[in-house]
Amino acid sequence: MTEPLPESLDPARSLRDVPAKRTCLRCRTVFQSEGFGERICRRCKGSAQWKSAVPAGGGRL
Ligand SMILES: [Zn+2]
Repeated sequence: MTEPLPESLDPARSLRDVPAKRTCLRCRTVFQSEGFGERICRRCKGSAQWKSAVPAGGGRL
């Protein structure tokens, strides 16, 4: 019988969840990401509200 490998031995999963240099989705600047969920650099997070991409009125196309 074969036993399923524990998650800790999964290289793909481990590589995603470790701190590494990633490219910011907003400014495309390479920054030190603390984890897989870190896709936006701290500069963008702190300086602007990157969550709201759509401007609230003001311009008509
Ligand atoms: Zn950025």
